[in-house]
Amino acid sequence: HKYVYDFAEGNKDLKDLLGGKGANLAEMTNLGLPVPPGFTITTEACKAYLATGEEPAGLADQIAAHLAALEREMGRRLGDPDDPLLVSVRSGAKFSMPGMMETVLNVGLNDRSVIGLSAQAGGAADPTAAGGADRFAWDSYRRLIQMFGKTVCEVPGEEFEQALDDAKRAKGTTSDLDLDADDLRGLVDAYKKIFSKHTGREFPQDPREQLDLAIRAVFESWNAERAVVYRRQERIPADLGTAVNVVAMVFGNLGPDSGTGVAFTRDPASGAQGIYGDYLANAQGEDVVAGIRNTVPLQELARIDKPAYDELLDYMARLERHYKDLCDIEFTIEHGKLWMLQTRVGKRTAAAAFVIAGQLVDEGLIDLDEALHRVNGAQLAQLMFPRFQLDHEFEPVATGIGASPGAAVGKVVFTSARAVELAGQGEAVILVRRETNPDDLNGMIAARGILTSRGGKTSHAAVVARGMGKTCVSGADELDIDVPKRRFTVAGRTVTEGDVVSIDGTTGKVYLGEVPATPSEVVQYFEGQLDPATIDDALVKAVHRIMSHADAQRRLAVRTNADTAGDAARARRFGAEGIGLCRTEHMFLGDRRELVERLILARDETERNDALAALLPLQRADFVEIFREMDGLPVTVRLIDPPLHEFLPPLEQLAVDVAVAQERGEDVAKEEALLAAVRRMHEQNPMLGLRGVRLGLVIPGLFAMQVRAITEAAVECARQGLRAYPEIMVPLVGAVQELETVRAEAEKIIAEVVGGSDVEVLIGTMIEVPRAALTAGQIAEAAQFFSFGTNDLTQMAWGFSRDDVEGAFFWRYLELGIFGISPFESIDADGVGRLVRIATEEGRAARPGLKLGVCGEHGGDPDSVHFFHSVGLDYVSCSPFRVPVARLEAGRAVV
Ligand code: PEP
Ligand code: MG
Repeated sequence: HKYVYDFAEGNKDLKDLLGGKGANLAEMTNLGLPVPPGFTITTEACKAYLATGEEPAGLADQIAAHLAALEREMGRRLGDPDDPLLVSVRSGAKFSMPGMMETVLNVGLNDRSVIGLSAQAGGAADPTAAGGADRFAWDSYRRLIQMFGKTVCEVPGEEFEQALDDAKRAKGTTSDLDLDADDLRGLVDAYKKIFSKHTGREFPQDPREQLDLAIRAVFESWNAERAVVYRRQERIPADLGTAVNVVAMVFGNLGPDSGTGVAFTRDPASGAQGIYGDYLANAQGEDVVAGIRNTVPLQELARIDKPAYDELLDYMARLERHYKDLCDIEFTIEHGKLWMLQTRVGKRTAAAAFVIAGQLVDEGLIDLDEALHRVNGAQLAQLMFPRFQLDHEFEPVATGIGASPGAAVGKVVFTSARAVELAGQGEAVILVRRETNPDDLNGMIAARGILTSRGGKTSHAAVVARGMGKTCVSGADELDIDVPKRRFTVAGRTVTEGDVVSIDGTTGKVYLGEVPATPSEVVQYFEGQLDPATIDDALVKAVHRIMSHADAQRRLAVRTNADTAGDAARARRFGAEGIGLCRTEHMFLGDRRELVERLILARDETERNDALAALLPLQRADFVEIFREMDGLPVTVRLIDPPLHEFLPPLEQLAVDVAVAQERGEDVAKEEALLAAVRRMHEQNPMLGLRGVRLGLVIPGLFAMQVRAITEAAVECARQGLRAYPEIMVPLVGAVQELETVRAEAEKIIAEVVGGSDVEVLIGTMIEVPRAALTAGQIAEAAQFFSFGTNDLTQMAWGFSRDDVEGAFFWRYLELGIFGISPFESIDADGVGRLVRIATEEGRAARPGLKLGVCGEHGGDPDSVHFFHSVGLDYVSCSPFRVPVARLEAGRAVV
């Protein structure tokens, strides 16, 4: 079994086996770029080691053979006392996990080879350099003991840092650079004592033992707790393992003609073309990361070392042409010689992703299909959140984790109860907690945004806020929160209840006071306020171009969920091709609630008919408005769904009010009748009770009134020269007989109202009860279309109350990895998705050409859109703001 690959043997497509870093080092080696020689130990070796706790058979010999080859190539032996070869041992998984796993540098140094290293460096080092060769050698040795101790032997890192601080203090300095060779030799002694105190053994002097232990430590770091947590958050599979790269050391800290840096072939923030990066002379990579000294912009290198700079620029251009994408690069210059230490396709912001994809098309490097592939709906969604308009007046006072995006401004409150109370008075509030728990749910619903001082992206606050689409900053640990005193302190300021703060759920930044917010450029573009043909804005142009291509490619149509003319109009501007769900119950709220109450309380047919007759014109007018906005496009109207008691006052409150009034001797006949009705309609499990089609079968005339209002509105529109395409949808059907009964009555009304006009009204059903999915063949006989209500379908397939579980226990399920994301957010393809597949196949078998859509929240979720595409639905329907995301993802599902 081959466990070790020389860099010359790999290539960039072997990431599974060689990890990202190893595969790209191999690619650069084969491109002829100056990569320090080395080899990669595969992820297979790591997996075998993690499974058994032992290196797999043959690995040690293969490492020995590759090491010998490396020694021959370098003309030096590992840890040779006179002229040592040193190597770095670096982790490198398939997916980049920045800072999560281990690296050990300078392997091969010991009490003897440190002298050899000094001689080696002295040969070429600038004798005037800070401290010279001796200093460099001892500094390298102390770094090895520190890194090796910490990562291989779990010696507490603070003790090394403490010893370093003590050495600097003794020298009266704060800079590492002021420590000379003698100081560093002393520090090596101190480090060795720390090492043996914690490990019970001396620091290993055998170079091969150092190497083997370091490789083992990198293997084991795959299962370090922080790596496990990171993978769960980023949804990286737990069983990939990491590769290990053993690379000949090159040194950027050999004097002013040496240095180290990072480079980007384009600006990863904006996507703009140019040379971006940082350089630090006379330093090693960790010094840049640790921020010990300030870096200079990469362009400065042109002044410091023009030949190396020109060479680097040449390699950057070659890498970009080769990878056809933004690359980020780490490099080191050793005595004027440039070495490439790493490259990869670079991370970038959402805006840069679009801009770069557009540029690469212009440059002929990729085609539009590939450009579409390179961006995604989550990035587009990010570009659609409102922005804070930040100028110099506003400095963040704290930075936490951007847990749920958006820009929220409001008065600070510290308890859920207070949030509910102030929001009830029309105030915008930000709920501030150390961390949230299920008791905070009402407060979270009432608040504009949520700010916590503890917890990460999977904390309760973060999970629930994302589920609600509410802005959240979590883990802002600079905040010192005192709930009983209703205040927090941050950056020396005290913020008390009622003070205004602004939180940015994308960047995690927290501001005091009200930061003004504006719609993003991308939303202005979708709204038709910015013309991509004339505007000089790279982002808007790129979004326009890629969206147009997505529209041209996609097979899924995209509709919207809207029940007001305003929402319908906006969604249409955003590209919606009809309404997939108009929830009519929303038209029963406000001042109409009283009419609904009359309907429910009706003692006889006359009273009931009066109530329905009063509702009819109101409904009709609503539909006329919506049909007008959607002129020429289909509008799916769902008959009333929720249990009627939702339109009545809550039982407990009403019972108390009636009792109090009776006590006072007031006339309560009317209230008592209401209370009796509320009691009669009270349900233990209303979501499984009298709702949807069941209401239509129990309350005479209710559905009939709605069908009449819809059809009359369509006829009215036709008279005005508009074209309405109503599709009447029956909710919560589980058996074909339910649908047949409703349909028979509806068809009579439609025929009567339509008369001679050429209005056509379709009748179909939601598929949101598992039984409906399983009997879809029968139901299709009576339905002209299906729309999957994946919210209820998920609720009933899992038996999860959609209103309760996210706040109650989903955080635990996510923590345990039972699912990686809430099934209410992204479709559970294996379970709920299977029901969708069955219903699709059996429905279409019974009625060829049956129109199929989805109108649950999943219709706007990127992964779910891909799933619905693969099942072969005709359209997805989602909230107006998700329409562009669904268009983009429907296009991406094709390319
Ligand atoms: C659904 O259940 O998916 C659906 C769209 O209906 P509602 O969310 O109104 O129950
Ligand atoms: Mg439903």
